[in-house]
Amino acid sequence: MIREAVIMAAGLGTRLKERTTFMPKGFLRLGELPIVEWSVQKLIAAGIERIIIGTGHCSEWYEELAKKYPLIDLVYNKDYAATGSMGTLLLCAEKLRAAAALILESDLIYDAAGLFVLINDPRPNVILASGATNSGDEVYLEADSRRLLLGNSKKKAELGSVYAELVGISKLEKDTLDAMSAYCRAHAEDQPTMEYEAAMSALSRAAVEGKTGKKFAIGIRKIEYYAWREIDDESHYEMARREIYPRILENEEIRAVKREVLLNPGPATTSDSVKYAQVAADICPREKEFGEVMEWICGELSDMVGGRDRIKTVLFGASGTAADEVMISSCVGEGKLLIIDNGAYGERFGKIASSYSLPHEVYKSSGQVLPDTGAIKKRLLDGGFTHLALVYHETTTGLLNPVPELCRFSREHNITTIVDAVSAFAAIPIDMEQDCIDFMASTSNKNIQGMAGTAMVFCRKEALEKIKSYPMRSYYLNLWDQYSHFEKTGQTRFTPPVQTLYALRQAIIEAKTETIAKRYERYSACWKILVRAVRELKLSMLLPEEAQSKLITAIVEPDSPAYSFNELHDRGREQGFTIYPGKLSDAATFRIANIGDIRESEMERFTVFLAEYMKGLH
Ligand code: PLP
Ligand code: MG
Ligand code: MG
Repeated sequence: MIREAVIMAAGLGTRLKERTTFMPKGFLRLGELPIVEWSVQKLIAAGIERIIIGTGHCSEWYEELAKKYPLIDLVYNKDYAATGSMGTLLLCAEKLRAAAALILESDLIYDAAGLFVLINDPRPNVILASGATNSGDEVYLEADSRRLLLGNSKKKAELGSVYAELVGISKLEKDTLDAMSAYCRAHAEDQPTMEYEAAMSALSRAAVEGKTGKKFAIGIRKIEYYAWREIDDESHYEMARREIYPRILENEEIRAVKREVLLNPGPATTSDSVKYAQVAADICPREKEFGEVMEWICGELSDMVGGRDRIKTVLFGASGTAADEVMISSCVGEGKLLIIDNGAYGERFGKIASSYSLPHEVYKSSGQVLPDTGAIKKRLLDGGFTHLALVYHETTTGLLNPVPELCRFSREHNITTIVDAVSAFAAIPIDMEQDCIDFMASTSNKNIQGMAGTAMVFCRKEALEKIKSYPMRSYYLNLWDQYSHFEKTGQTRFTPPVQTLYALRQAIIEAKTETIAKRYERYSACWKILVRAVRELKLSMLLPEEAQSKLITAIVEPDSPAYSFNELHDRGREQGFTIYPGKLSDAATFRIANIGDIRESEMERFTVFLAEYMKGLH
């Protein structure tokens, strides 16, 4: 797995004349974005967690870009005018944390398939190459019979033979980069403006000839008809615009997965890159490499709910209900539990507690109004409860419970709090420390926008330590054992859902890029579009607006005899929308969720469909 990338972006780009006098080459635009931003987005979609950009000329442009993409780290080459690309690359290489990285030039447009090919190439060091481009600026590559790099030049005559053209995207090990850096430093006097491809060629040739370690031999991966263009002058830019960029777009279209807009409350719509993240090399999950992936996932998830130094994330291969069951069966000990039930998921907490014969009481409250916090607080104290369980966002109705208020009160009275945040996490901003939540459940397939199959329990460290000696009521769903086993071994107790976790990793990269705050803004914008249409159609909503989560809306069914949920559902599916029935016994509703990788334009389209259906009813 490749987790880091370097983009060399310090160069002056003098051949593009006045276009790049006050702007780096990477900011030439194609379509709606600068070319380097296309590249950043492709790297993100390919599962890169961190991008180091080596800057120089007009570095302030990259500083702006880095504000938009939190995964970008900048390295400034102050000698950019006097060094070549290798001078920038060696500064970036020092900052790498991973054992291997993708190395890219900044002035490229390319088909993302090239990244997939390099990531999946079995060789540790390999550079991407193509057949003839006739661009007039080719960097030709010479290879030996095993396709190992022997040399490069812009002049064919300088090479023994020409095998392919350098694209400007490579996969290199950290050791190889370090050896290239050493080579560059050794030639600081005689080759002060060394390009990185010269360092690659020198190192690889020496390795092939047996002069240095064999591991520094660099393979060439040639894709004969690869769609790519390096843009160094006006004619390249023109060629990119007219020919290559349209080809790249077409290739991407070919790989697009059929779009289904899921307006059910999860599993939510996912991006294609999350879907494709599941297509990865097979691995035994007991390998250290996979343990590191899970560790990364847990750390990042903890950061989303209060920080990894205070919160521990524990993963189970299961659905969200399992995370609820883990908390109820593992976290109550000899205590007494009060459960708030104002919807199907609060009720489920009660069923779980009953199935374990736990001492508990269910506090029932209407699903249609905010619960009476004063009465709940009183009951907590009067009943001598040690634990409180409630649902953050009651998906049944779209009601947002007053979790911070009740949990803060509980903290003051030494009551442990257990929260189902299955449909709140990764949309509603939650800080478990500030909100005084001790244990909290969620799942991979809702607002985090991953695939179904991973349940997560977030735990405040202090609260987690306390359950160590609690009775083991469930074998598989035991929180302490699952946690401590992973801490000790870097492995889960039982087989984890490997591909689902790869998708979750990708979903986290994308959530960090969007940010949870912006994600909630996007969801809210979709909700506003829906609510506007609901009002225009004179339909009513089950809940008053101020009690709503803005994540799911329960809409009262029209009382026309012509209305049929099934028909509405089936017609919606024909247009790529999936809607959901209501779940209350005392109100006839249907539900529209606005979570997942959905766009405002899609919600607009849905409201047009909904209006057509409703107006047809009379
Ligand atoms: N809790 C809440 C609040 C939910 O919304 C859901 C599912 O919609 C669940 C629990 C159960 O999750 P799962 O169906 O993954 O078991
Ligand atoms: Mg170049
Ligand atoms: Mg160039």
